Amino acid sequence: MTLSHWPAEAAQPAPPWPVAPLATAIGRGLLSRCPACGERHLFKGYLKVVSECRRCGAPLGLARADDAPPYFTILVVGHIVVPLLVIMQRLANPPTWEMTAIFVPLTLVLALGLLRPIKGGTVGLMLTMGMLKPNPAAT
Ligand SMILES: [Zn+2]
Repeated sequence: MTLSHWPAEAAQPAPPWPVAPLATAIGRGLLSRCPACGERHLFKGYLKVVSECRRCGAPLGLARADDAPPYFTILVVGHIVVPLLVIMQRLANPPTWEMTAIFVPLTLVLALGLLRPIKGGTVGLMLTMGMLKPNPAAT
């Protein structure tokens, strides 16, 4: 028995846009650039992905990340904020209002600051892996 990658490479025709290595595509997405070619504009607005790269034509709008970026953002922010909160509580035991005044803004800034790059990285991952699906509202 031989092991093969799924889907089989022969079953996937090469896309008409350049396919970057996975780490490169994710890195470009994290920097809000097109994962395929590195063009500057991956987003129009804060989180809306452009429908197509204007340089290479990669169908970025078909990489519908849905709930994955918020999930990854919560995962990352939670692993930063919760240990800090516990450490501060154990070491200084500040009043509740002080903890709230520190950690609510910190959580908001981290979440809003990381959501866009994480969405870009997710789009890069999805584009490279061929995880593209048409918008159901458009059909
Ligand atoms: Zn591009």
